[in-house]
Amino acid sequence: MGEILKDSFGRVHNYLRISITERCNLRCTYCMPEEGIPLTPEERLPSVDELMEIVSVFKEMGVDKIRLTGGEPMARKELPEILDRLYGMGFRDLNITTNGVFLDRFIDKFKEVGLTSINVSLDTLDPEKFEAVTRRNRFDKVMANIQKGMDEGLRIKINTVLLKDFNEDEIQPMLEWSKTTPIHVRFIEFMPFNGNNWDTKKLVTYQDVLDEARKYFNIEKLKDGKHSTSKSFRVVGGKGTFAVISSMTEPFCSTCNRLRMTADGKLKNCLFSNQEADLLTALRKGHNLKELIRLSVRSKKEAHAGMDNLPDMENRSMIAIGG
Ligand code: SAM
Ligand code: SF4
Repeated sequence: MGEILKDSFGRVHNYLRISITERCNLRCTYCMPEEGIPLTPEERLPSVDELMEIVSVFKEMGVDKIRLTGGEPMARKELPEILDRLYGMGFRDLNITTNGVFLDRFIDKFKEVGLTSINVSLDTLDPEKFEAVTRRNRFDKVMANIQKGMDEGLRIKINTVLLKDFNEDEIQPMLEWSKTTPIHVRFIEFMPFNGNNWDTKKLVTYQDVLDEARKYFNIEKLKDGKHSTSKSFRVVGGKGTFAVISSMTEPFCSTCNRLRMTADGKLKNCLFSNQEADLLTALRKGHNLKELIRLSVRSKKEAHAGMDNLPDMENRSMIAIGG
C-alpha cells in the first residue's frame, strides 16, 4: 500500500483543493478587499508542468480527490489542459468551484473528463443584489449558465454566503428553488479573512437558516457523508436539497481531510492556518517535496482557532486561498 497523509490526530488527508489563479472577473465584497489584492508576478506562479509535478507527488501520497478553485478557475486559459492532464494522471474525482460566468465554455470539456458535479457561487436571486455583492453586472449570464449546465446533465450545487441584513431574506426563495428544481443549495456561514470587514453581527448562522426554513417549509434531515462539511436537508417532496456549511458555529475540523494549495504554490493545511509550506520554491530548488508535505500535515492543528480568535488572525484574503 502507498503512503497516506495522516496528521497527528489520525485524520487522513486525501483531498487537495488547488487554486489555479489569483485573478477573478468578479469582486465579491466578502472575498476580496475593495482595492483588490496585489497579484503575484507571473514568474512566481506554477506553470502547468510544475503544477502537475506537484500534484503527482500528492497522488503518490494518497490524494485521490481534487477540486480546482481560485480566484476564478475558469479565468485561467489553461483550464482545459489542466483538466485533461489531471484526468490523464488517473484522477477520477475532479471537481470545480466557479462563479459560473464562463461555465458555458467548459461544459463539453467537463463531460470529457467525467466532471459531472460543479459548485456555482450565487448569493442572491435578485439581479440588483447580485451587482451589489459582486460589484459586477453578470447575473443574467450566471443564471443562464446554471440552466444550461442543468440542461446538459450537470449536477449543480449553489454556494450562497449569507450576510445579515443583506441576503438572509434569500433563504426562502432559494429553498423554493430547491423544491421545484433539482438544484442543491448550500448556505455558507460568512468567514473572516483579510480585508473582508467580518463582524459577528453580519453572521447568519446554521441555526438561523433552520429557523427561517421552518417558517416556510417542512424540512427533513438527510444523511451527511463522512467528510462532509455541510449539514444536508431537503424541503419535503423537493426535487433538490439544501445544506448549511457551518464553519463558524459548528466547525467540522474533526473529520477534515482537506489540504489546500494556493495559486502561488504554497500548501496550507487548514483554511484558517497562516503557516504555509512553499512547494513551488522547493520544487524549483530540487528539494524533497514529500518531506515538506509530511511536515505540514503533521503540524496541522486539531481545530481552527475558533470564533473568538479568528477575526484577529493574519491570513490571506479568501480570493488568494480559494475556499
Ligand atoms: N471564484 C470561484 C467562486 O466564487 O466560486 C472560486 C473561488 S471562491 C474564493 C470559493 C468559495 O469561497 C465561493 O463559494 C465563495 O462564496 C466562498 N467564499 C469567499 N469568501 C468567503 C467568506 N468570507 N466566507 C465564506 N465563504 C466565502
Ligand atoms: Fe471571485 Fe469567487 Fe471571490 Fe467572488 S468569491 S471574488 S467570484 S473568487
